[in-house]
Amino acid sequence: GATIGILGGGQLGRMLSVAAARLGFRCHIFEPGAHPPAGDVAHAVTTAAYDDAGALTAFARSVDVVTFEFENIPTTALDLIEANTPIRPNREALRISQDRLTEKQFLQGLGLAVAPFADVPDAAALDAALAQVGTPAILKTRRFGYDGKGQARLTSPNDATQALSEMNANPAVLEGFVDFTREISVIAARGADGGVACFDPGENIHRDGILHTTTVPAHISAAQRTDAVLLAAKILSALDYVGVMGVELFVTPQGLVVNEIAPRVHNSGHWTQNGCAVDQFEQHIRAVAGWPLGDGQRHADVVMENLIGDDMSRVPDLARAPDTALHLYGKAEIKPGRKMGHVNRITR
Ligand code: ATP
Ligand code: MG
Ligand code: MG
Repeated sequence: GATIGILGGGQLGRMLSVAAARLGFRCHIFEPGAHPPAGDVAHAVTTAAYDDAGALTAFARSVDVVTFEFENIPTTALDLIEANTPIRPNREALRISQDRLTEKQFLQGLGLAVAPFADVPDAAALDAALAQVGTPAILKTRRFGYDGKGQARLTSPNDATQALSEMNANPAVLEGFVDFTREISVIAARGADGGVACFDPGENIHRDGILHTTTVPAHISAAQRTDAVLLAAKILSALDYVGVMGVELFVTPQGLVVNEIAPRVHNSGHWTQNGCAVDQFEQHIRAVAGWPLGDGQRHADVVMENLIGDDMSRVPDLARAPDTALHLYGKAEIKPGRKMGHVNRITR
């Protein structure tokens, strides 16, 4: 069988490796950190930094295709890999999603609604951005933010200077606050043949900036469901994307607003492991391996809940609960805010 290279050895890389193994593939993980969660289940692990050209080249040459579980991969590393091995999804999706400003401009260019936004390259740009976007607003670093890190909510323009200085001179973008009724996400897959298959949209609840639960079905109308799936398909096709993407959306009375896209399997798609014949991880492996996409029809109602930090103390009880599937990531050390696992409850 073929070998799939995965950049990043976190829980997403782990679950991708499990899915790949089920289809007879081997996975080779590239990860700078020691003891990556994916390392337990992968065929091979390279522990090296992204500026280690020799290690990257050897990694690329040892695999048939390279994919990734996170978006902040240095361009120089991608250049080295691509000289040897195809990368799926392609680099354009990474380039766009690495930078919130580029991402918003791209989405707007597709005719999709995004929050009002303004570039804040430095403190001097703040007044103009505030005048344009108004408050309440959210100031976000353009790069490297996740789980609500690198962002500050501004209730008044007076909060802005302080918030920007706390971003340590990182270029930022100011976003108008979207008064949404719900948050949903579409986990969409596009195969090498250009066919798109979307999982049923999930409804997401965040706690302290981190995804807490995803519920399917989402409480949305049939028309909203159709809109969500069509706009996701538009994004993947525009990028000539191959693989799974997470598309985060705000539901508003005026229609759907795109919050952000993630060019990878997504936490809000974990419910598919117990709600579909083919889950998001297998779907991604199928796509990057050039297989046909599988059947992602939802056959159950599911609530996915993340197990974060001390939630691990609930594992003994959860292990006894009916209609409950536990997924643990094998992380040795429990830290506050750290994603340790998740649980999928079949509710119908
Ligand atoms: P992730 O872990 O999903 O990558 P992130 O750090 O990239 O998160 P965002 O998705 O941009 O952060 O924002 C986190 C959450 O903050 C959103 O899911 C939403 O609840 C809220 N939020 C972000 N931007 C806005 C906005 N413009 N208006 C209203 N709420 C927002
Ligand atoms: Mg994000
Ligand atoms: Mg998000």
